[in-house]
Amino acid sequence: MTSRQSLQKAHRIAWPVVILGIAVMALSDLKWLQATGVVLLFSGILWAKFAGKCVHCLKPAGAWMHSASPGVQYCPCCGKSLDADRARA
Ligand SMILES: [Zn+2]
Repeated sequence: MTSRQSLQKAHRIAWPVVILGIAVMALSDLKWLQATGVVLLFSGILWAKFAGKCVHCLKPAGAWMHSASPGVQYCPCCGKSLDADRARA
């Protein structure tokens, strides 16, 4: 797996959870269901922040989630290519 694939996988998991959390929070009249929506929302945000990692230095994506975009080629932490497999680097 490349770093870019790791970031994209974290994105794919996090966004539906965030959107579901917002929907549950906004559409519910029950306090406990609204609280569940808040928990889902923050779980998605935290997942997006910490789950996607550089496969070389294992630093969490955090603020550089945008690195999954094709314009960014290298990990800002270790400088290795986001498209290089761990075995090849
Ligand atoms: Zn790195």
